[in-house]
Formats: sequence, structure tokens, C-alpha cells
Amino acid sequence: MFFFAKAPWAVSLHGGHSSDYCDHGDSTLREMLDAAVAVGYHTFGVAEHAPRAGARFLYDEEIERGWDVAKIQGDFEAYAVATQSLAEEYAGRLNVLRGFEAEVVPTDRYADLMLELRERYRFDYMVGSVHWVDDRSIDYTLRLFDEVVAVFPSLEALAVRYYERVAEMVRALRPEVVGHIDVIRKYARHHGPVDTPAIRDAADGALEAIRDAGAIIDVNTSAYRCGFDTPYPAPWLLERAVRHFGIGVCFGDDSHNVAQVGVGILEARAYLLEHGVAYLSTLARSDAGVVRARVPLA
Ligand SMILES: [Zn+2]
Ligand SMILES: [Zn+2]
Repeated sequence: MFFFAKAPWAVSLHGGHSSDYCDHGDSTLREMLDAAVAVGYHTFGVAEHAPRAGARFLYDEEIERGWDVAKIQGDFEAYAVATQSLAEEYAGRLNVLRGFEAEVVPTDRYADLMLELRERYRFDYMVGSVHWVDDRSIDYTLRLFDEVVAVFPSLEALAVRYYERVAEMVRALRPEVVGHIDVIRKYARHHGPVDTPAIRDAADGALEAIRDAGAIIDVNTSAYRCGFDTPYPAPWLLERAVRHFGIGVCFGDDSHNVAQVGVGILEARAYLLEHGVAYLSTLARSDAGVVRARVPLA
């Protein structure tokens, strides 16, 4: 078992998905926060999935449970309210940041919807993630991913479009954190490489948008759970982000149950140090609200 002892780098800005508010979470939010205290996190940002505004974006298991858009919107509102009192309750033991993970559907109006959620519930920050390309799911199941590949001329064309969508999302939402920037790798590996020159060019476009927005890239340890040797982003993308664009990085355990809280953070820290990253960019509470901070990784 590991214990971070509240080291300055013991931070996750993407995780805390819970069964209270998410169909594929397995522990309650309170259990998640207790687990974050137990592993010695200093700061734990909870970033529940935003509701998807449209029945065609519901997951199979949500439909099986009889859930609809109104249900997931109601759950999200309950989440937004609950995190206010929980953040106060855990203060002193754990710095809880109130966030949410934005969705990019429906493509033609997600930006207004996400910015409205942020404003209405006064979240501390937003994680901008691309789970959908042109309203099609690319990270939920291999079956759905295969269907998306089939409508594109090639895997490369899909991956290029994916990074273009990341760039657009960042410009539209200006999130503090960009989630699992190369999550396209998750299922693409069953089809072929997603680091060709054309894809790297498109990824550069996304990195440029991230730099311009001043956003932080989430070094996301869920990639280990998917069988990868490194977190998201892959080494070439990490180096490009940090060295060429000077973008800051933070950790995200992307936890969906207590057994995942903190898992992979030590490995991700070693990964960053190996690649010459000496500082973590994070978010901290101050009198002026939630602000960017920089803490040493070593
Ligand atoms: Zn999730
Ligand atoms: Zn995600």
C-alpha cells in the first residue's frame, strides 16, 4: 500500500467519479473522499461527468436501468450541491476542489451547455475531455469505437479529427484542465498507430490551443488500468507538450471506485521525472478563489 503523506505533488485533478452520480462508478462520493484522505492526498479534485443532453448519448447500462436525460441532469445537480458541503466538511483533512468533466455533445451546442453548468453551479474548475467525435463515442466500448472507425476513411482520419475536436473544445470552453488528451489510444491500438506525422500535426494544433488557453494537461493514470505502460499522454506527446509548448501537467487518477484512488500516481510521478518534468501545475484555493499553482515533483 502507498501513502503520499500530503506531499505537495499529492494531487489529483481528475477523478472522484462515484456511484451516487454516475452509472459506471462503484463507490459513493463520501467513500471516495475518505479513500483520498486515507492515501494521503493533499488535494483531490472531484470531476463528475457532465450530463449528456440527448437520449441518443445515453449509455446502454443507463437505458437498461430506465434512466433518461432528466435523471442524469437531476443527478448532476445533486452532485453540484453535495460537493459544496462536502468540500467544507473535509477541509483541513483534504482540499476538495469542485469540478466536473465536460462533454462535447451535442457537437452544435455543447459549449453553451457546459459553460452554463459551470456558471450555474459555481464550480471551482472544469476538466475538458473529448469522449465523442462528431457525436460518436470513442472511449466507452471497443464495439462503439469500431463503429466510429468504420464511418471514417481511415483510423488516421479519425485520430486527426479527434485532435481537431480537442483544439475546438479548448477554445470553446477554456477548461483549467484537459483530460486524458490522447484517450483515442485506448481503443485505437486494436486498429493501428495513432502517432503518424499527420496525427502529430493535429495534436500540435490541440497543444497550441491548450497553451493559448493556459490549461493544464492531466497526466491520467487510467491508462495503466487499460494495459498501457505509461499514463496519458504518451511519451512523444508529453515531451512535445512540455518542451515545445511549455504546458503544465498535473495528475488525475480518474478514479471510479475506492480501489482506484491514488493508484498509478507514484508511477506517473516517476514517468514525469524521467522525462525531465520537475514541477507539477495544480490548482489551489486562495482568497482570490481557485488559482494556478506550481509545486515541485521531487
Ligand atoms: Zn467515467
Ligand atoms: Zn474522461
